Amino acid sequence: MKEEEIRPRQVFDEYLRLAALDANLYFNNSDRQAIPCPACLTTGTKVFEKHGFDYEVCPACQTLFVSPRPPVADFFDYYQKSASAGYFATVFYKATAEARREKLWKPKARMVLEILCSFGVENYGVFDIGGGYGIFAEEFEALSGNPVIIIEPSPELARVCRGKGLRVIESFLETMTPVLLPEGRRVFVSFELFEHLHDCRVFLRRLHQLMQPGDKFIFSTLSGMGVDIQTLWQDSNSISLQHLNFFNPHSITLLLEGLGMRLLSVTTPGKLDLDIMYNQKDKLKDRFWRNLLAQSAPEDLHSWQDFIVARGCSSHMLVVCECP
Ligand SMILES: [Zn+2]
Repeated sequence: MKEEEIRPRQVFDEYLRLAALDANLYFNNSDRQAIPCPACLTTGTKVFEKHGFDYEVCPACQTLFVSPRPPVADFFDYYQKSASAGYFATVFYKATAEARREKLWKPKARMVLEILCSFGVENYGVFDIGGGYGIFAEEFEALSGNPVIIIEPSPELARVCRGKGLRVIESFLETMTPVLLPEGRRVFVSFELFEHLHDCRVFLRRLHQLMQPGDKFIFSTLSGMGVDIQTLWQDSNSISLQHLNFFNPHSITLLLEGLGMRLLSVTTPGKLDLDIMYNQKDKLKDRFWRNLLAQSAPEDLHSWQDFIVARGCSSHMLVVCECP
């Protein structure tokens, strides 16, 4: 897979341009509150500023995070009204929907099914937190025969999902009541949501309350220790205003276990790190990577990517945990 297939350069650049303008428009006058490391609560050290947001790194667990942080209400306002969020949900989504279904969602559905089979989980309902347009739900239901219920706060997206015949709980997870969930074995999933969460602890505590012993939570998020993010740093396109938390395999373990979850596996099965670095090779400051990318044949880059995945150093992180 190539970055261009799921993020066409022209469309993605326009989104990034709008996002940079919105960062100023929606957050310039925000009251901001300093927060400690969202994984281990150590005080962070500022490492750079981008689009008016300060980013800190935790000296204890290397989590990269936005602090001080504008209030959650300002983010709601941004997600509902801003040009960049609107552009992402319409133009960007339409331009990439089919490629994403094939390249991202079908493999994700297969991967989640394999994980559940490997843990011997049977007869379960899946709850897709922030299920968006419902593409994972469609693919997973078709593949596994197990029902997927979408937990989605956006009225517009909830309407799209219902239009596809999918079941939707129109709510944020954080404010959802347990009575909305049917009984039985539960598997919660969320994809590319965790990096957006304003308060991961509030989210995980609520999730824990909704889980019964043995229920699973499978999620993907960005790892700040991923090689493309580490080498591109503030020039990484992943560092943009919607992304507030960049955990890593070590720090996500601290966070989950600290809140009483049992970690089952954490891997980084990413495919794009080297391709992303190649596409932005002019911005790489590290001589080793700059020269390596200049000289490498495509098959060399594939074996580097495989090595990075094997060492847990891709920026695409997949976590499986359960309620003990
Ligand atoms: Zn930390």
